[in-house]
Amino acid sequence: MKQVKKRKRQAKVYKEECAACGCCVLVCPHDAITVYKGLYAAVDESFCMGCGKCVKECPASVITLSEVTA
Ligand code: SF4
Ligand code: SF4
Repeated sequence: MKQVKKRKRQAKVYKEECAACGCCVLVCPHDAITVYKGLYAAVDESFCMGCGKCVKECPASVITLSEVTA
């Protein structure tokens, strides 16, 4: 039987440019984002569903979505 690879999208924060405002944390429906030590946000890949809400919300535009193959 042919193996079907699941594709999904994954959010990633460019932490060097992150303002640590926390807007992405508030909108994420899967609690996948944490602001570490008030310095930068990071996405927990195991919780992120690739919905893109954080990307739209980030005022600094430092979150990107990329395709990942599971
Ligand atoms: S893409 Fe969606 S699920 Fe993933 S971190 Fe952003 S808001 Fe959360
Ligand atoms: S919304 Fe953008 S700038 Fe604000 S904490 Fe999240 S990634 Fe950083």
